[in-house]
Amino acid sequence: MQILVISDIHANHEALEAVLHDSAGQYEAVWCLGDLVGYGPQPNECVERVKSLPGLTCLVGNHDKAVLGDLDINSFNNDARIALEWTYHNLTPDNFNYLHSLPSITEVGAFTLAHASPRQPIWEYILNRMIARENFAFFYSPYCLVGHTHVPVVFRESELSDECDEALPDYTAPMKLNHQRMIINPGSVGQPRDNNPFSSYALLDTDHGTWKYRRVPYNVENTQRQMRYLGFPERLITRIAQGW
Ligand code: ZN
Repeated sequence: MQILVISDIHANHEALEAVLHDSAGQYEAVWCLGDLVGYGPQPNECVERVKSLPGLTCLVGNHDKAVLGDLDINSFNNDARIALEWTYHNLTPDNFNYLHSLPSITEVGAFTLAHASPRQPIWEYILNRMIARENFAFFYSPYCLVGHTHVPVVFRESELSDECDEALPDYTAPMKLNHQRMIINPGSVGQPRDNNPFSSYALLDTDHGTWKYRRVPYNVENTQRQMRYLGFPERLITRIAQGW
């Protein structure tokens, strides 16, 4: 099966549409690793678009949880909090209920899906090999997909030691999944943080065991214009054009 893997859309509808346009016709199912809302100006449009996707498995993320009132909004920085409060007041009841219905971790075939980490599905950032290595003990499938850091990256467990290695995305060739255990992050659709402002996503082929990273430009100015109109913090507006 061909699967579109997306994460951290963060209410950036321009970015989501660019990813869906770029990947059109190349997948039969969609896995979304959470954080549909927060930071961006179009939470309802994003939730409704994701809900409409075929063969959808969707997780809830920490920003979604904050809007639902399941996470203390004070655990977020000031800029994020302003966007979350606006989202809380503008999300439709239907979309609120939809986010409320989502799990934070699930397993599909050979893949564990978690928003943040298998050890702590909502909150932990897998930022380096040490944290990744510890997390291999918290899932049982060969592969684990996570979002949350907004950085596309692959951590591979070593069979010989309890070390693991870290690989940056190769956009030129698909990565082979050869049953070596991995934690894989597809990067962020709506707010990439690897100094590349293009939307990040992946195409997974479970029949051939391949993972293909993709980047796609989108109309950042349109998203920024809406954020400015809504009075969102300037820092949030600037960062999406720069990818941090
Ligand atoms: Zn996020």
